[in-house]
Amino acid sequence: MNTLNSDPAELAKFNDLAHRWWDPNSEFKPLHEINPLRLDLIDRLAGLAGRQVLDVGCGGGILSESMAARGAQVTGIDLGEKPLGVAKLHLLESGLSVDYQAISAEALAEARPASFDVVACMEMLEHVPDPARTVAACAALARPGAHLFFSTLNRNPKSFLFAIIGAEYVLKLLPRGTHDYAKFITPSELARMCRQAGLEPAGVTGMTYNPFSKVYRLGDDASVNYIIHARKPS
Ligand code: SAH
Repeated sequence: MNTLNSDPAELAKFNDLAHRWWDPNSEFKPLHEINPLRLDLIDRLAGLAGRQVLDVGCGGGILSESMAARGAQVTGIDLGEKPLGVAKLHLLESGLSVDYQAISAEALAEARPASFDVVACMEMLEHVPDPARTVAACAALARPGAHLFFSTLNRNPKSFLFAIIGAEYVLKLLPRGTHDYAKFITPSELARMCRQAGLEPAGVTGMTYNPFSKVYRLGDDASVNYIIHARKPS
């Protein structure tokens, strides 16, 4: 059995692009554009200032840094060597402080169980072999009463059309092969993973992209991108 819940081919995709992570016009443009939306959602629902926050699959640190800038004590973890290197280097530029570590969620959960007030795992579950295990590790890392946020891609004909055909082939927002439709996760599947990990799903927020105005918005439409908010019982 593969004890490490990670896929080398998936990590390689992000390693190859990592040097462009902070270029707002690169392959990471969508992450830059959605960041203020997800940051505000997390801050509104969980309150970031003064909290111990874990960013799982933090990549180059777009979300981690923005949460630190809101006054959170942020730990960012990723198994991609280059994204993490970029994240550490960028702290020199931003002057912010984030504790970046190359460790899996599962290993950190063994070392520091029940340590975080907020756990965010954004745009990562669709890249791991066993997302339920990642959700369980995030649940173990969360303190009683903690807020957890998971974002991923829904699985249905519309998400295939928008997230793969639209984003990778027509608009070319993302490199071809970034996403694998079979690994998309429906909100009910993700809610079930949360419940199986002892979490209480508290709400689903959709994220939509208008290709004409090029604007992302949060709302009720979770048919393509969405964020699920869950609580760990006190
Ligand atoms: N969460 C960040 C980056 C998303 S890109 C953001 O939304 O801004 C996906 C990230 O997940 C990449 O940095 C990749 O290296 C990381 N990743 C993929 N599989 C992983 C795993 N099994 N464990 C930890 N990180 C992983």
